[in-house]
Amino acid sequence: MTETISITRTKKSKIDQVDFDNLAFGTVFSDHMFICDYKDGEWQTPEIVPYGPMEFDPSAKVFHYGQAVFEGMKAYKDEDGKIWMFRPDQNFERINKSSERLAMPAFPEEFFFEGISELLKLEKDWIKTGIENSLYLRPFVIATENGVSASPSNSYRFMIICAPAQAYYSGEVRVVFADTYSRSADGGVGFAKAAGNYAAQFYPTELAKKKGYQQVIWTDAKSHEYLEEAGTMNVFFRVGDTLITAPTSDRILDGVTRKSIIELAESKGIKVEVRPVSVAEILKAARSGDLKEIFGAGTAATINPIAGFGYKEDDFELPKLEDSYASRLKKDLKEIQANLAEDPFGWRYEVK
Ligand SMILES: *Cc1c(COP(=O)(O)O)cnc(C)c1O
Repeated sequence: MTETISITRTKKSKIDQVDFDNLAFGTVFSDHMFICDYKDGEWQTPEIVPYGPMEFDPSAKVFHYGQAVFEGMKAYKDEDGKIWMFRPDQNFERINKSSERLAMPAFPEEFFFEGISELLKLEKDWIKTGIENSLYLRPFVIATENGVSASPSNSYRFMIICAPAQAYYSGEVRVVFADTYSRSADGGVGFAKAAGNYAAQFYPTELAKKKGYQQVIWTDAKSHEYLEEAGTMNVFFRVGDTLITAPTSDRILDGVTRKSIIELAESKGIKVEVRPVSVAEILKAARSGDLKEIFGAGTAATINPIAGFGYKEDDFELPKLEDSYASRLKKDLKEIQANLAEDPFGWRYEVK
């Protein structure tokens, strides 16, 4: 399999120019990238080449119709120098689910895993040890056919780029519950990691920022009565000692972190309810003091606690807990990810 990937190494690594103690998330990229083109109905021989700009025709369909999907995953290095990933099979399945919805061809499993493995072997010095360090991997697929007719492309490029990442600290996060705009709708593409889903959130999120919130918690498009997700993170609510999160649907992205937290919390004896969460019940719980925590869950931040939220004219602060579910679950999940704890679930995947 290895001989099917052609590898061109960089002449000069950039690693010495990188300040690994001051990394802004997703702004610095490693020395190499993985590329595989699709044409004439099949995926061609994959390549790993030095990271750098690429040239496309201005009429390439990705620029006009947004036929593009992506993934986000992380690699960790333990004290023995072994490289680990967290449930990459889930990302593989999901990118193909996203691609199918956007009428794009599925990417072959062996190319995906062999590509990651060869790329990470080349970039192993870019993965720092320690629980706060990782290498963020961004696989993505774009439509490359030239021509502005609105139809699916007949050629694509699948790529993986890598960005070293540190602990994700975003300061205190306040969110607003959406009551006007929507991120996704029934029958739409909300479950897919489709590029356009994110572009469509920028404007309402900018409006929220002007009012002092960092993010929007999206509600169902039909009634705006049910809380769904945060747009790059799924959300959990702790009411009393119960964790509640919305069920996935075609409007909600089926997050790997979300499903892992559900299993992890249940294994620790925390009661988890996967069911629709109404705005009304969260407002009521906030007013009565039963609402203890809200947190987001996603690969970039693992778990991101929320300090407060707004809804229409009202603002609510969440209590500052010593021993929150968010901090306990985050610690446990990160230790499993970085090979610092047992992995009873079989989630860890060694990259060889
Ligand atoms: C990626 C993403 C998440 C989190 O998924 P993970 O697999 O946990 O990283 C949640 N919501 C949306 C919309 C996303 O794009």
